[in-house]
Amino acid sequence: MKIFEDVIAAIGDTPLVRLARLHPPGNLVAKLEYMNPGGSVKERIAVSMIDQAEREGLLKPGGTIIEPTSGNTGVGLALVGAVRGYRVICTVPDKVSQEKQDLLRAYGVEVIETPTSYGPDHPDSYYGVASRLASEIEGSFQPNQYFNMANPQAHFETTGPEIWEQTAGQVGAVVAGVGTGGTITGISRYLKMQNTDIEVVGADPEGSIYTKGADGDLHQYYVEGVGEDFYPETVDLDLIDRFVEVTDAESFAMAKETARVEGVLTGGSGGLALHAARLVADEDHDRLVVVILPDSGRGYLSKTFNDAWLTEHGFDT
Ligand code: PMP
Repeated sequence: MKIFEDVIAAIGDTPLVRLARLHPPGNLVAKLEYMNPGGSVKERIAVSMIDQAEREGLLKPGGTIIEPTSGNTGVGLALVGAVRGYRVICTVPDKVSQEKQDLLRAYGVEVIETPTSYGPDHPDSYYGVASRLASEIEGSFQPNQYFNMANPQAHFETTGPEIWEQTAGQVGAVVAGVGTGGTITGISRYLKMQNTDIEVVGADPEGSIYTKGADGDLHQYYVEGVGEDFYPETVDLDLIDRFVEVTDAESFAMAKETARVEGVLTGGSGGLALHAARLVADEDHDRLVVVILPDSGRGYLSKTFNDAWLTEHGFDT
């Protein structure tokens, strides 16, 4: 019998799939993180951050998890909270689609909308409200994925070893989009301990700090979940060999192409990583390149995969 005792136990061990139609030399493979039970890579860090908080006594039975997030981390925390009986509160900026808020509510999360226009230092921003609630609600814990070292640690303990084992140590390079940097940092730390020759490449949206630098012309972009306008504590830049800058247009075009030629439906940040990974895979056809696909395109049907939205925002369809 192979029965997981709860849905948390079913997180991880996602498949590696060769993308030989997208990249005929055959040295590009994708790790399908959207096959986690909640649909994204972020469940790995949700469990790891909650496990650590329980170990350290920061979260006790009946406690409350509070996080400012609209996205995949919220779903990950929701799923862990549901199984372990924690109340979960997510604060979200009001620009976040109804669909995404409804998804969190479906898992029993209490969603609090805050004005998008307030900066992170404003007390009524989604960061400010989360911090205030965390100080007011007894027994609450704020994981804070940008500062929590259990985030990269989750990937050091699970995603990195999976890639090493699934490729029988043949992996030559890994490409991943970088947001908090937890994914790429944890994977890189593990793989470079096995073989220092493995190259680790970050994919960065055009306008983000990782390729523009802190003094560069930082600006908004449409791809979600990757790139930053500050350096999170969870990223270790020494473990990233180089970055490749990718535009919104390149990211969306690649996500669409991959769905059509491979039957692999990933979000904009997966498209971004794929664009960079195909360039890296083209440099040496004898080197096996693993690309991380963080979530599914199902979450972006009204954007990346919607011709009217693409046209309205100046992208090719
Ligand atoms: N893609 C998406 C859709 C995400 O939500 C995230 C997490 N912010 C990432 C990529 C990047 O992962 P990380 O934060 O581990 O760098």
